[in-house]
Amino acid sequence: MEEKFQPDVIIIGTGLAGLTAAMEITNAGKKVLLLDQETEQNIGGQAFWSFGGLFLVNSPQQRKLGIKDSYELALQDWKGTAGFDREEDYWPGKWAEAYLKFAAYEKYAYVSKLGIKFMFMVGWAERGDGSATGHGNSVPRFHVSWGTGTGVVKPFVDKAYEAEKKGLLQMKFRHRVTDLIIENNKAKGVKGDILENDDKERGAETNRNVISRFEYHASHVIIASGGIGANHELVRKN
Ligand SMILES: Cc1cc2nc3c(=O)[nH]c(=O)nc-3n(C[C@H](O)[C@H](O)[C@H](O)COP(=O)(O)OP(=O)(O)OC[C@H]3O[C@@H](n4cnc5c(N)ncnc54)[C@H](O)[C@@H]3O)c2cc1C
Repeated sequence: MEEKFQPDVIIIGTGLAGLTAAMEITNAGKKVLLLDQETEQNIGGQAFWSFGGLFLVNSPQQRKLGIKDSYELALQDWKGTAGFDREEDYWPGKWAEAYLKFAAYEKYAYVSKLGIKFMFMVGWAERGDGSATGHGNSVPRFHVSWGTGTGVVKPFVDKAYEAEKKGLLQMKFRHRVTDLIIENNKAKGVKGDILENDDKERGAETNRNVISRFEYHASHVIIASGGIGANHELVRKN
């Protein structure tokens, strides 16, 4: 990183979550340092390999197929599975409501603006028991994007490189975050290992040879280090 580049936000992870956060923050004119333990070949993370099925509620594709869907029905379906009936379910419940509002009212326009297109039919993933009062999706909501996972990832990767050219984003690969720097209960930076570079193709296992250490500071830190199969050591430690 050039010494003069002082990020407003550090994001851990160049998967779809990290790239989306970076896009939003750099669009707002703020500077982002994006770190990932993997090589640049792996930019986009799991989403590159995914089926690229996007969850949308009351989309044009659903309406064309005569599928009647709504925010209210999707929330009922989600509650049918998750329950949200314990005290500790408060924030997951709020997250579900916010995500469903996004999926019902904003997401189609958001991804369309990025150039993501969909196949005409809508799939029925996480179908559950097929009723509106049981668990799972009571109607089809799985919209397969053109190009599947690669089609979803591409615009976000392109935006990252554009932001890098504008000087708003720096990406550092082979930077494995091992610690958050906490001051007054707030994450104010990260520390970790610099791993030896590796020229293996995307998806192949890379080495874990530590060649140096790093430490970066910013007023905000976002952890976007993945879900399925991801290392949650960072979250557990902090
Ligand atoms: C085969 C397959 C098919 C799928 N199909 C679908 C689908 O059709 N629809 C759907 O909605 N979802 C699907 N998914 C799930 C979806 O792809 C993932 O949930 C999503 O891509 C996760 O994105 P992410 O950015 O949160 O995490 P990831 O893509 O896992 O990215 C996390 C990044 O963080 C980095 N990282 C982790 N720890 C550290 C650390 N300590 N320091 C630095 N970097 C770190 C990792 O190297 C990685 O690059 C599928 C997944 C797979 C594998």
